[in-house]
Amino acid sequence: AKMAGKNCYRFYSRTMDQAIERRVRMEHDLRGAWERGELTLVYQPIYRTRDRVLVGAESLLRWNHPEDGAIAPSVFIDVAEQSGLIEAIGLLALRNACHEAASWPVPAGAGEAPFVSVNVSARQLRSGDLLQQVADALQQSGLPPERLHLELTETAVISDEANAAALLARLRGLGVKVWLDDFGTGYSSLSHLRRVQVDGLKIDRSFITDLLRDPDDLALTSAIVAMAHSMGVTVVAEGVERAGQFELLRERDCDLVQGYWLGHPMGGPEFVAQLG
Ligand code: C2E
Ligand code: CA
Ligand code: CA
Ligand code: CA
Repeated sequence: AKMAGKNCYRFYSRTMDQAIERRVRMEHDLRGAWERGELTLVYQPIYRTRDRVLVGAESLLRWNHPEDGAIAPSVFIDVAEQSGLIEAIGLLALRNACHEAASWPVPAGAGEAPFVSVNVSARQLRSGDLLQQVADALQQSGLPPERLHLELTETAVISDEANAAALLARLRGLGVKVWLDDFGTGYSSLSHLRRVQVDGLKIDRSFITDLLRDPDDLALTSAIVAMAHSMGVTVVAEGVERAGQFELLRERDCDLVQGYWLGHPMGGPEFVAQLG
């Protein structure tokens, strides 16, 4: 009976051990991944809906693991966030995105060089270092502040609203634009927008996916656009995969669009080639 009990215990603990082991190994591998050149940034183009002129790009991390190959951000950002590694990785992403974007040319028909948007995690937001890091990144790269957009998730901002509101005000004071990411997935989104001043919001992909089929999603998207515009806030729709979605968004006055139908994330040089 003692043996069976022990085996039983080992049986249940093994899968748990494996999951923990995987995380520990990933955390270990993630340390120094940037220095080894395994982490890179790709850029996904963002277009003005009205005339489909390219106006910016979102920078997105990619991890090319020497043994496991390409690992999606949905897997490693979580590990980076929980281990605290995101603070170092996020800073490098910020610096590199600013540095690359500083040399982007003005695309045909645009009048100005594209902005770059950088994702900022909840942990970076709470770290107390963000304002100085952003100021330094701008100064060192020479990127004009208005060409840097910071994407903060709605949940991160709302969970720490008192501090976030003050920090966002200071970031905007530097001249950078602040965007709320994954908008619509958090709780009671609209009321928070009155207290937390932002330049733009990104309607979460989950609303766009069903736009052509689900009248509720279309109604919500239209309402978000109308409400945002009444407060002078710009709206981006992400995850636009079909022409029909794009047409509806144009009809409903959504300012900017991003998605596979318009362009996939791509390496820096490939993005620059698009600007020609
Ligand atoms: P996100 O900020 O919501 O980024 C948009 C994600 O949607 C990206 O996935 C992008 O490739 C994907 N996407 C774009 N257009 C389409 C489309 O038309 N259809 C579909 N199905 N997907 C589309 P990705 O690159 O895998 O990034 C996933 C998440 O990882 C991001 O979600 C963001 O939360 C996080 N992430 C990525 N890079 C960074 C970073 O540098 N810092 C931080 N803190 N988080 C990052
Ligand atoms: Ca984002
Ligand atoms: Ca998003
Ligand atoms: Ca739906």
